[in-house]
Amino acid sequence: MSRPLFPGATIGVLGGGQLGRMMALAARRMGYRIVVLDPSPRCPTAQVADGVVVGALDDIDAAKHLAAQVDVITLDTEHVPADILDALHTMVPVRPGPSVLRTIQDRQTQKQFLDRLGVPQAPWAPVGSAAELDVAMTALGGSAIVKVRRAGYDGKGQVRINVDDDRHAKLAILRGEPAVAEAIVDFAREISVVLARSSDGTIELFPIAENEHRKHVLHLTKAPARMPADRARHVSDVAVTIAHALDHVGVMAVEMFELPDGQILVNEIAPRTHNSGHFTYGACATSQFEQHVRAVCGVALGSARALSGAVMVNLLGDLWAKGAPGWQHVLALPNARLHLYGKDAPAPGRKMGHVVVLDDDLDRATADANAMFAALTAEPTQKP
Ligand code: ADP
Ligand code: MG
Repeated sequence: MSRPLFPGATIGVLGGGQLGRMMALAARRMGYRIVVLDPSPRCPTAQVADGVVVGALDDIDAAKHLAAQVDVITLDTEHVPADILDALHTMVPVRPGPSVLRTIQDRQTQKQFLDRLGVPQAPWAPVGSAAELDVAMTALGGSAIVKVRRAGYDGKGQVRINVDDDRHAKLAILRGEPAVAEAIVDFAREISVVLARSSDGTIELFPIAENEHRKHVLHLTKAPARMPADRARHVSDVAVTIAHALDHVGVMAVEMFELPDGQILVNEIAPRTHNSGHFTYGACATSQFEQHVRAVCGVALGSARALSGAVMVNLLGDLWAKGAPGWQHVLALPNARLHLYGKDAPAPGRKMGHVVVLDDDLDRATADANAMFAALTAEPTQKP
């Protein structure tokens, strides 16, 4: 293990989205410096960073320019070419390492990894070409969700094909991108495990989160998820097994489907901080963002213990259709914490911010969060 990087050290971040921003805020509070690589000098992370290198994430010269100014490199997105990470890794430590990213950033490689590990997931089949589609669909029972192998997020790059659909017309939506088909899972609910792993193999698990998606995008997270203790142990074990097998360093999330009979299937792995872990800021002794900083800097992890129950609601660009949302509805809730990412172009489906409602009574927190969200939707303009 390399020497720990203490406050005063500089962390480089590849990609300047909201995850990098919230990590940068945690890092700077602790006295670390942050330099970010992003095509936009006004990206969410750049707004709160010590320095910015403007360049594309596949621009090797820009990435090396970043590496020359930092002590360690981490990522805001898993979609950075692994070859670039290999090149940077010869200059400074890249955490998580290039091999983790290589396994995760291609859905097919990720599924093969999970199969080898013996972790249950939905039946799946490769769709490398239109010709393979019929074979895949027959194997999966006629209906499936087809997802592009690379660069999909927030439901983008996936299409649901039902038995009666014109399969090939539906597949055309993915523009010939290599893909994987998955059986449609009739889950009881979606859950996720967010954890941090340091390079010596120490793991800290955050409370298990229960997630509700709308149009394939996360809408609401409740934590801690209520479930029998033996199931919670199994769910945690699955995530820990994956983290060790990857030799992951940093925060990682495992998204899972919980079936009506209690069986657990892994949906996908995110080798980074995760939207379903946003509640940890405020609800846990150490947030996922601080935990990521600690892990990539090789210092001790903090406690992930819950201080409060929490419900998180995402604020998508749809709420900006008539101008800035009516923040009075959020700010009037004493237990609600508003997080905005500093994005200046609200588009439908774009993640602009989120609200965390802190309350040990999760039913009350959910009711408050839903009422707040309904008010934002019904009366979306600012009132004094
Ligand atoms: P993304 O990278 O966009 O998060 P996911 O694979 O997690 O992609 O899909 C987004 C959401 O779509 C999931 O959280 C889930 O709600 C739904 N979904 C994805 N795959 C399946 C499946 N095989 N069966 C049922 N629902 C699915
Ligand atoms: Mg997902």
